[in-house]
Amino acid sequence: MGEFTGRKVLVLGGSRGIGKAIVRRFAKAGAEVAFTYAASKDAADALAAETGAEAIQTDSADRDALIATVADRGALDVLVVNAGTGVIGDPLTFDPDTVDRMIDINVRAPYHASVEAARRMNDGGRIIVIGSVNGDRMPFAGGAAYGMTKSAMQSMVRGLARDFGHRGITVNAIQPGPTDSDMNPADGPMAPAMREFMAIKRYIHADEVAELTAYVAGPHAAMITGSFQTIDGGFGA
Ligand code: NDP
Repeated sequence: MGEFTGRKVLVLGGSRGIGKAIVRRFAKAGAEVAFTYAASKDAADALAAETGAEAIQTDSADRDALIATVADRGALDVLVVNAGTGVIGDPLTFDPDTVDRMIDINVRAPYHASVEAARRMNDGGRIIVIGSVNGDRMPFAGGAAYGMTKSAMQSMVRGLARDFGHRGITVNAIQPGPTDSDMNPADGPMAPAMREFMAIKRYIHADEVAELTAYVAGPHAAMITGSFQTIDGGFGA
């Protein structure tokens, strides 16, 4: 019997990176896991075969499809909103549609998915969004739009924690710092500069973020709500 046996978990954006580690963590602990992805069908199918989780193709930017996918899962115990994109660079060169798509995925989707999940969620459920230390700190140029989306998540977390607290549902953000993934590879061009901002100068492993997510989803975290759990190697210190 695993730590999450009998628990129903939905991870939005689970095919790669941090989301994939979260899917593995919950599946290993006995949960009934489903996860969404947008583009990476092969990676999603491989993860489903490996873990027994169900892979569902739903673009988080498609609001109505996202709401339908969350509703279809019925009464969840845990929703993890991990799907996110990072548009980083000179804002004067950005295509406005690219920025707006990031806002759709990083802000609108977490809000609509969280509310839809809460409609049917079991009492004592957990809503967890993957924010970023950049919701608190922006020590480099080029991150204004991305940081804005992660700060917006913080207000959502505070507010929904109050909206659903009477049902024992907790709402929290996990805020990673530089984490090795396709979005931010430990050997990528941004990595040396990112390490300089950290007190412990190594990239975080996706498994470490997944472990913190499991803790916040677990029975010992019933009184952690409306909070931001930062795992950043001291990036924001
Ligand atoms: P990756 O780019 O490595 O993986 C992103 C995952 O999200 C993929 O599974 C991807 O699916 C999914 N996804 C992206 N867009 C959509 C969409 N529109 N609809 C459904 N799924 C989608 O990113 P990371 O693992 O690095 O990041 C995960 C989260 O962590 C993000 O919210 C990010 O902002 C946050 N974060 C990451 C940090 C880092 O240093 N890596 C630091 C701080 C926060 P598909 O494969 O189909 O594209």
